[in-house]
Amino acid sequence: MSSPSMHALRINIVELLRQPGSERRVEHEISSDDLQCELAPGQSEISGMVSVDVTAVSATDDVSVAGSISIPWSGECRRCLKSISGIQVVDFDERFAPARSRNRIGLSDGDVSIIEGDQIDLLEPIRETVMIETPMSVLCSESCEGICDVCGADRNNDSCECVVVIRDERWAALDALELDD
Ligand SMILES: [Zn+2]
Ligand SMILES: [Zn+2]
Repeated sequence: MSSPSMHALRINIVELLRQPGSERRVEHEISSDDLQCELAPGQSEISGMVSVDVTAVSATDDVSVAGSISIPWSGECRRCLKSISGIQVVDFDERFAPARSRNRIGLSDGDVSIIEGDQIDLLEPIRETVMIETPMSVLCSESCEGICDVCGADRNNDSCECVVVIRDERWAALDALELDD
């Protein structure tokens, strides 16, 4: 399957390698449908277009592509189940070399992706990055109190008898600290 959207994520490296040090910027938005990420259970949903902003820079035998990927996500707080959303911005940094440069670059250099032909296709490495970096088990706040296991009250908004027991333990811990002073 191919769409115009994916075509924008291909970089022709012939011109880049002809002039080491030359650059090409790729700014593109791609839908999660086109990305076809298989996210793991517990991972947030991709809630909009994923933004790609990377620049390809050539050296003698390889091309480095670096920049950022912004992933809009939405999900439920794992403690209180409130709907939350955000944008995860992650670094992207990959090196690519044409198969004919393989000997000069050396097979020991595992950081380089060897590509067949004259094009880098960023779709697959971007898909992998989005699959890894889409947030997992999100929290509405680090201090989210969650839902009471006993009565189901949202401890962020409601108090209940069960909460008092937990607060007591905290005060006990505080008291112990104060005694140490
Ligand atoms: Zn929460
Ligand atoms: Zn309760």
